[in-house]
Amino acid sequence: MEHEIIVGIDLGTTNSEIAIVENGKVTIIKDAGHEILPSFVGISDDDEILVGEPAKNQYVLYPEKTIKSIKRKMGEENTVEMAGKSYTPQEISAIILKRLKTISENYLNKPVTKAVITVPAYFSDSQRQATREAGEIAGLEVVRMINEPTAAALSYEAENQEQKHILVYDLGGGTFDVSVVNIEDDVVEVVASHGNNKLGGDDFDQKIAEYIVKHIQEQFSVDIRESRKAMARINRAAETAKRILSDQPFAMIEEEYLHEHQGKQINLSLELAREDYEEMIEDYIDETLEAIHVALNGADLTASDIDEILLVGGSTRTPVISQRLQTEFQKQPRSEINPDLCVAAGAAIQAAIIAGEKISGSAVLVDITPYTYGTSAIGELNGEFYPHMYVPIIHKNSPLPLSKTELFFTMVDNQKIVEVQVFQGEDEDALNNIQIGEFSIEGLSRAPANSPILLKLELDLNGILNVSAIEKNTGLKKSITIDNAISRFEEDEMEQAKQRIQEIFGEKVVETTEETASNKVVVQAKALVEKAERLLDNASAEDKEDIVDMIEAINDALTAKDFAALDEPIEQLSDIIYYLES
Ligand code: AMP
Repeated sequence: MEHEIIVGIDLGTTNSEIAIVENGKVTIIKDAGHEILPSFVGISDDDEILVGEPAKNQYVLYPEKTIKSIKRKMGEENTVEMAGKSYTPQEISAIILKRLKTISENYLNKPVTKAVITVPAYFSDSQRQATREAGEIAGLEVVRMINEPTAAALSYEAENQEQKHILVYDLGGGTFDVSVVNIEDDVVEVVASHGNNKLGGDDFDQKIAEYIVKHIQEQFSVDIRESRKAMARINRAAETAKRILSDQPFAMIEEEYLHEHQGKQINLSLELAREDYEEMIEDYIDETLEAIHVALNGADLTASDIDEILLVGGSTRTPVISQRLQTEFQKQPRSEINPDLCVAAGAAIQAAIIAGEKISGSAVLVDITPYTYGTSAIGELNGEFYPHMYVPIIHKNSPLPLSKTELFFTMVDNQKIVEVQVFQGEDEDALNNIQIGEFSIEGLSRAPANSPILLKLELDLNGILNVSAIEKNTGLKKSITIDNAISRFEEDEMEQAKQRIQEIFGEKVVETTEETASNKVVVQAKALVEKAERLLDNASAEDKEDIVDMIEAINDALTAKDFAALDEPIEQLSDIIYYLES
């Protein structure tokens, strides 16, 4: 029987997504190749309604004709102005929902009339009511509204609903929420939640934009904030730089012909180091950690009671966030399900449960690396100087494919060579991990100590690991490729285990190779022939004939080295000998 169609919708402040469960698995429905619909609505020059990317694109130039972040106004009495007309927040949200509905109908080729929509855990009754009304205006019956952290937990835990305390850390573009979610007996519920609905990735962009503005002021003595057009470009460049810094230690911010000032062109070219960026946003991250403790208090729990930490929202790709959470909870936060999509995926799972559809194993399919990869460097281990400190670069359970670059430094002045060792494992002592590759980058420029060397690790869907070392100042590069990295290590691990057993028992482990196995048969056959020949004299004529046939068969097989052909005559000859001797 065909189940009725209920779609799952994440109606977000910055972005929205729509998903369904098909054949037990979640599909995020794409619109012209995009899984994400920016939550922007606008009126074009030709008085047409724009939704998503085109509305977002016109926002900076025509803010009076564009609405963003309508979710913040849901449940309020006030209306918003767009191109001279007033709209209720429900109406603007309905325009976004209508677009999502059409996207799903185009994909499914059927009408879609029912939806599960997610809302923040802190949404009041009136905000929830307004969301339901927006659905109705768009022609969607909202069969259930679920809390966003509940949806995130469902996307990770649809299959495994044992008792658990889950912390959902959700940092989007403009809002931050942290929730403690309890799973028990198939019931997933938010027990405490806290946040700041004015904190998000946009603030991070803002910090970078301020840094660029200051740089332009210093270098060109121009207050670039006066140019709306230049600021639009700066804001975009800031966001791009921020994303780059999630994977790389430096980002180049380059904007040619950004502005003209007194007949002079301003070309922007500025490098930003991750370290400096992390300092800019440190107060924001501190604030999120304080909020976590408020939520934990509210749930009457401490950090050690938390079984899982789930990362939700695009901004959680900022690596310092995982690092801080790891330090706080002594647990690696999970982020294998795309943090932009896991709320929509959870909404689709809830929708499928309501529609009575079966959900298989893990409903969200992701390719992840089961191992951590890194290198070794000089550092401190247990408070002492140690030359083989492990520095993880790609963390286990990260979604594939991925590329991560980390920064290292030369040790001495005029250093000519850097030896790079690549390891797989988790131990902070690199020597306890499995070495999977090694190479050196030679002919470095004669630079002073502490010159930057970038190490880039790229792991693809087939488990092929590319490792490159790059001298930052010259671009000198050396790479290796480790084929089939993921499965190869299992063999290596086996070898290591064998070695360990050997050391424990102090003896050489004898390997059963094909050769040793056939040797055994040959020895057995020869011994049997000798014995049979000794018994020939006392055998009856009939037995004699059988024995001679068997011996001949064995000798033929031995001469032909056809060891498989030995089995049968050996067995028969053994039987005759047994009979003669008894
Ligand atoms: P959301 O509201 O959950 O869609 O999150 C959007 C926010 O995530 C925006 O501020 C994006 O700039 C931010 N974001 C997306 N990708 C990354 C990334 N790779 N690193 C840091 N922030 C990101």
